[in-house]
Amino acid sequence: MSGTSRGAERLVVIGGDAAGMSAASQARRLKGPDELEIVAFERGHFTSYSACGIPYWVGGEVSDRDQLIARTAEEHRARDIDLRMRTEVTEIDVAGGRVRAHDVDSGAESWTSYDKLVIATGARPIRPDLPGADAPGVHGVQTLDDGQALLDTLARTRGRRAVVVGAGYIGVEMAEALINRGYEVTVVNRGSEPMSTLDPDMGRLVHEAMEGLGITMVNDAEVTKLLTGQDGRVRAVGTQDAEYPADVVVLGIGVRPDTALAEAAGLPLGAHRGLLTDLAMRVRGHENIWAGGDCVEVLDLVSGQERHIALGTHANKHGQVIGTNAGGGYATFPGVVGTAVSKVCDLEIARTGLREKDARRVGLQFETVTIESTSRAGYYPGASPMTVKMLAERRTGRLLGVQIVGREGAGKRVDIAAVALTAGMTVDRMTSLDLGYAPPFSPVWDPVLVAARKAAKAVQENTL
Ligand SMILES: Cc1cc2nc3c(=O)[nH]c(=O)nc-3n(C[C@H](O)[C@H](O)[C@H](O)COP(=O)(O)OP(=O)(O)OC[C@H]3O[C@@H](n4cnc5c(N)ncnc54)[C@H](O)[C@@H]3O)c2cc1C
Repeated sequence: MSGTSRGAERLVVIGGDAAGMSAASQARRLKGPDELEIVAFERGHFTSYSACGIPYWVGGEVSDRDQLIARTAEEHRARDIDLRMRTEVTEIDVAGGRVRAHDVDSGAESWTSYDKLVIATGARPIRPDLPGADAPGVHGVQTLDDGQALLDTLARTRGRRAVVVGAGYIGVEMAEALINRGYEVTVVNRGSEPMSTLDPDMGRLVHEAMEGLGITMVNDAEVTKLLTGQDGRVRAVGTQDAEYPADVVVLGIGVRPDTALAEAAGLPLGAHRGLLTDLAMRVRGHENIWAGGDCVEVLDLVSGQERHIALGTHANKHGQVIGTNAGGGYATFPGVVGTAVSKVCDLEIARTGLREKDARRVGLQFETVTIESTSRAGYYPGASPMTVKMLAERRTGRLLGVQIVGREGAGKRVDIAAVALTAGMTVDRMTSLDLGYAPPFSPVWDPVLVAARKAAKAVQENTL
């Protein structure tokens, strides 16, 4: 076993990407190597990489894979983090305070003891258990290796027909990437509209805009098989009632927390199979074990319920909090309001807070308003239409959620609503927010404030 006679405490990190390496780096900022030894295990080829950038690398906006690597293994090691690449942790022995690691290349096994442990194993993409799902030409896009494999296939493929399975944000971003590469793109989606993180009426706007971009949208379709040709490569995606020819298939049907290791160690999982932590990101019931990123569940501050939301923005913040605590400081992660933004070509899509069905599920009564406005003053060149939907609690007027679909400047407007939600504002209070205004940036009443005014009126009219 490595590290039996040690002066410094040892922090072991499992998972070398956003959450894990943010935690390691922050702990190192607070404590030097004399006080804290840091050992991090990463089973893959890359550390501290941006999976978020994969669609833009595949689409050609980002020219080089290395631009997506925020910090290399050598850079971490230069900061006294003993980062062991291509090494998978296969067991956590909680009672013994140690982890078993498997060197992927040599096959060697070893145990490493810890005083403090961080679990940052991320999420695993869902692969359909269907005939042909592993055929050449079928790709996921979770890792940089996946992105490279897809680019290799695109370089080799003579045909220009691509099918994307799934119309969440990864599906729509990959549809854009393939359009940019000159492919004819079909998106096959199980839901009634794309972007199920929006209400269906707002998803409908995304659907129409994607069709306007030349993307064929197939909704309410369950993929039943991936058909292969004589060469064994994928040739079509089959649903219950049709076949869609494909030279390449990209899967974007969601992820699940990667918690098999944690579960086997007896650590607590929630209803969504994510690890359960306290506000300091400590695994519940375990003083010296923390977890963060895509492998945990987070508290939704609007609904008060635990959810699994796989986003890099959370993973980085979790890592910062964990590293502070593991480094002897104090920090907490209070929870999320559910903010996300994405785009397909020039269409920007954003949401925060609760959808109608989320609000109903937790027993909230609410008013819903939808407004049309523009990104700039109507007379200013380049003004483009924008739709804002807003939910406010009945009687109290508390803001519950906002969804925005539009073009330039639409997406990041959701941050106004995210701040208002975090502050627990009413829609009436929002109407007087002192937002910046000049004709090139917004109408004199920003679209979010127009929605807030309409929502406040609805709340007032329906208050008994
Ligand atoms: C295509 C795509 C686009 C995205 N776009 C966005 C976006 O625009 N905005 C946003 O906020 N988020 C986005 N995300 C999500 C974001 O990338 C993730 O939320 C983030 O990477 C999570 O970080 P993490 O450290 O928790 O997990 P991961 O990044 O998954 O890292 C976990 C690491 O742990 C390693 N590991 C797992 N188990 C073991 C083990 N037993 N031993 C050793 N190593 C192990 C894995 O190899 C992996 O490198 C996107 C994701 C994808 C795939």
